[in-house]
Amino acid sequence: MIYLTKGNKRSALIDLRSGEVRTLPNEEIGLDEEEADDFKPEMYLHGVNCFDVEFMDVFPNELPAYHELRTHLQTLPSAFNIRVFIPDQAEFSADEVIRFLKDISKQACHAGLVLIAAGEQLQEAVKEACRWIRVVPMNEGREGPYYHPVFTPMQGVIASAKHHNLFHHSRISVVFENGQLTTRDHQKHDIPKHQIEVCRECEFRDICFDPRVPVKEGSKYRYESDCAYDPFAAAWRE
Ligand code: SF4
Repeated sequence: MIYLTKGNKRSALIDLRSGEVRTLPNEEIGLDEEEADDFKPEMYLHGVNCFDVEFMDVFPNELPAYHELRTHLQTLPSAFNIRVFIPDQAEFSADEVIRFLKDISKQACHAGLVLIAAGEQLQEAVKEACRWIRVVPMNEGREGPYYHPVFTPMQGVIASAKHHNLFHHSRISVVFENGQLTTRDHQKHDIPKHQIEVCRECEFRDICFDPRVPVKEGSKYRYESDCAYDPFAAAWRE
């Protein structure tokens, strides 16, 4: 089924099953808007639909504290998609990170484990040692002053959300800092794009997987950075 989402100048035709997205000027669209309802595609790993499970982000500023994560993982009720973020300035050896990832994999019932890392050597070492872990460069496609939107969060598959925020819905983040594990619940950031300034005018609003935190100003929500796509001009900024 093809969904039509109207933006300020253009409309997006979204085939959620094939993942194809096309846009056309609004004046060429003779149809009423039919926005996609919340849609979770199906992609099974170990018998678990990766889109049915929740997401957990892990930002280890210190790896020695990770035994606390084990205890935390045992308290979680369901399978998770787990993403581990290692920025360039983190001073961990590849061996430490690999041990950490293997340990998480053993402890947690996860549908997918993704390493998002800045260091190229680390990425290569993890790809070599843990072939089942997806490795994503941290800055892929994100250079420049603008936020670059992502429409396909997982292996070319498009999800859509009208009533939730695709990124923040069902997500917790775990941060290790000063030897402590801190849990951040994203529920308060689960603001649908329909309620966020600028994005609400955009034809990509239902499929935009955006990790930025919306800020509230009076009764309105907005982002603090500009997106590379300008829905008012229907053009991409350089
Ligand atoms: S304007 Fe908002 S909804 Fe549109 S692509 Fe950018 S971040 Fe996504």
